This record gives sequence, structure tokens and C-alpha cells, in this order.
Amino acid sequence: MLTERVHFESPGTTGGTLVQARDRTKSREVDAVRALTAEFHDSSLEARYWSFKHEDLAHWAATAAHLCGALSIPLALADLANVGWGVGFLSLLVLRALLASVAFGLARLLRTEPTTITRHGFISAACAALVVGFALIALMQPDAARLDHLEVGLILMGVLVLVPNRVPYALGVCGSAATLWVAASATVRGAPDTAVISHGLGFATTIAIGWAAAALLGATRRRAFAEHVAAERANEQLRAEIARRERMERELVLRANLDPLTKIPNRRHFEEQAREEFVRCQRTRQPMSLLLLDVDHFKWINDTHGHAAGDEVLRVFSDALSEQVRRIDIVGRLGGEEFAVVMPGADRERAEEAAERLRARVAGLRIDMPSGLVRLTVSIGVTECDVWTEHLADVLARADEAMYQAKTSGRDQVVFA
Ligand code: GH3
Ligand code: MG
Ligand code: MG
Repeated sequence: MLTERVHFESPGTTGGTLVQARDRTKSREVDAVRALTAEFHDSSLEARYWSFKHEDLAHWAATAAHLCGALSIPLALADLANVGWGVGFLSLLVLRALLASVAFGLARLLRTEPTTITRHGFISAACAALVVGFALIALMQPDAARLDHLEVGLILMGVLVLVPNRVPYALGVCGSAATLWVAASATVRGAPDTAVISHGLGFATTIAIGWAAAALLGATRRRAFAEHVAAERANEQLRAEIARRERMERELVLRANLDPLTKIPNRRHFEEQAREEFVRCQRTRQPMSLLLLDVDHFKWINDTHGHAAGDEVLRVFSDALSEQVRRIDIVGRLGGEEFAVVMPGADRERAEEAAERLRARVAGLRIDMPSGLVRLTVSIGVTECDVWTEHLADVLARADEAMYQAKTSGRDQVVFA
């Protein structure tokens, strides 16, 4: 897909823009959030959201639980004002302490084990337990007073807005709690019909506002997450693209430096390396020699066995050359059937020895071709470089002269210039 993108992005075409636009639309479809539940249409993205954000969401829920526990205690003052000092107040106090400890326990669990927030059923049950507890407290008050409605309404709102739960679950908890509470206040307390209707409407409004707020909050969080996912995706594509370009660059450098037939350095790269070696030998005061090799009667090989066989002979020849020289020597194909070797640290004697070994090795080659056995010889001109005063071109010219002498003296030999 990436290659396609890069291909399309070349200037003068509009295909790249089209592909990018299609990608963006596709990603927007995937990242889209449902209006009522504030969940991603894409269930795998929704699962990723919970698993990626669970620590953050658990932190939020733990804060809500702390708040719930902490608020329930001071509200005991309202109980005192409502029921006065006595057994009634003490039982309310015990219930409040129990609820506060459940809330604090939940907060602790969420802090130590944040994945608990992804267990939506458990979170909903915990919320339901707290709501029922507070509803009980409200029902234990002597009259159908203002505060208990306010308290239960606030708790419903808290469950919807402060606890990051799936919206349908939170709605289930709050809807059932409100229904039960209204039913209980009508039957247990015998509240008048008008009061029951007004409480019901009050809770319905509270839940509707809480729902809208929860959906808004959930959607906002998910959109931020979707942006993060998109940025990650773009980064990944960018990294892959950079890696691809680096690979291409390395390949281009290799292609620019190596001779495609023999895979050894071409003339330009050989000369570059040879010049560097010149400088190095100058600095380290080392001798340096150069060998120039030309395959004998190569035209005859081409004419007799065909051009393809000639190519194969050149490959075998350059392989033998590369195997024979030292690791520090620099080999190159100067063109046609002409090759060169730079031998850093080698004086005349060592260079001649190496050239002689090379000559013998080439003379010993037996290359089996469909058209018959090919044998070949090579003429080698050797010269020692004066790294202080000379240029590479002069050295090559001198080696060429020596090589020419080898040709005129009967080929298959080494001549020192
Ligand atoms: P000499 O011993 O004097 O060097 O004779 P020669 O035949 O080797 O030299 P000449 O320069 O007459 O011929 C070289 C031939 O090499 C001519 C050319 O077609 C051939 N040649 C050059 N490059 C390639 C190549 O890449 N592949 C093949 N198959 N032949 C090549
Ligand atoms: Mg030649
Ligand atoms: Mg030749």
C-alpha cells in the first residue's frame, strides 16, 4: 500500500491525493462514535480504547468513588437535623459508614488494579450497590423531604458523569434505581401521586442531562483517542516509508558503485577508493602498488563462444581475482576486460609475487561452457606508486604501459614498470 502511495505522490499526478482522501474517509468511518452511547462503531477500536485508556479511566472512577465516600459522611449532619439524636440517627450513621467504606474500597481496588474499570458488569454492580445504599438512607428519613431527592439525584448524576462506564450500563443502573426509588417512596412512604409524578419527572430530567453529559464526555475522550491512534498510524507509515527510502538509497549507492556484471567496484568507485588509499599510505608512510590486468584475446573468446559466454568468463575471472587478493586490496573493473588492483602496503617485490599468483590462477581456470571448455590467460602490468608526488592517473598510465609490454612480449605474463 505504501509503495502505491509513494508512486502516486510523484508530482504531476492527483492519484496520491485521491488515495489519501480515501484513507482518511475510511479511517473516519472506523473512528466514528455513536451519538447515544458514545462508543466506537468499530468494536475492535472500542476494545482498544478500553485497554489503552484503562489506567486513566480507572483513575477517574477512583476519584469519583473517593468523592462519593467522602461526601456521604458530612451528609450525616442532615440526617441529624432530620431525625434527631437517637437509634434512628445511629443506624443511619452506620449505614453511611458502611457505604463510605464500600466506596473507599472500590477506589482502592481501582487504584491497585486499574483493569477493574474494564469489567463493566462489576463496575455497574458496585454503582448499583452504592445507589441502593443511599436510596435506603433517604427512605429511612422521616418525611419525603427535599434533601433525599437531591441526594439520590446527585448520586445518579455522579454515576453517569463521573464513573467512566459504558453508557447503556450506567443508564440501566440509574433507570432501575430511579424507578425503584420512586416506587418505594410511593409504597413504603405513601407519598401522594403528585409527589411521585414530580419525583419521577425530576429523576427522568436528571438522568437525561446525565446521559447527555456522559455521552459528550465519552465521545470527547474517544475522539482524542482516535486522534492518537491516527497519529500512531501516520507515524508507523512514516517509519516504514523512511526505512523503504533508506533501503532504496543503499541500493542506489550500491548500484552506482558496483559494476552490474561482475558486482565489483566500477571504474569511478575504484578510483575514489584508490585515491583514499593514496592519502592513507602517504600518512602512514607505507608503500603501495597497482596491478593492471587485461584478459588476453578476449575478443576471440567472444567470437568463438558467444557474448553470453564472454560475460560468464568475465564473472568467473573477477570472482577469481577477488578471491585471490587480500581483504585490504581494492579491486575494480576499469571497463571491458580490463581490471585493476590497488595493494596498500605492498612494495614492488610483494606486488610482483601477488601478480604472478594471479596470473597462474587465471591460467589454471577451466570454464565449462555449452560451446566447450574455455581457458584464458591474463597480461598484468605492475607498478609501485610514489604516493608523495604522483597522481593516480599517472600510476594507471605507467601500469598500462607495463601491461602493453606484457602483451607485446607474448601475453600471459607479468611486467613491472
Ligand atoms: P588483447 O589480448 O590484446 O587484450 O586482445 P583482446 O581481444 O582481449 O582485446 P580487444 O580490445 O581487441 O577486445 C576486447 C573485447 O572485449 C572487445 C569487446 O567486445 C569485449 N567486451 C568488452 N566488454 C565486454 C563485456 O562486458 N562482455 C563481453 N562479453 N565482452 C566484452
Ligand atoms: Mg583490453
Ligand atoms: Mg584483452
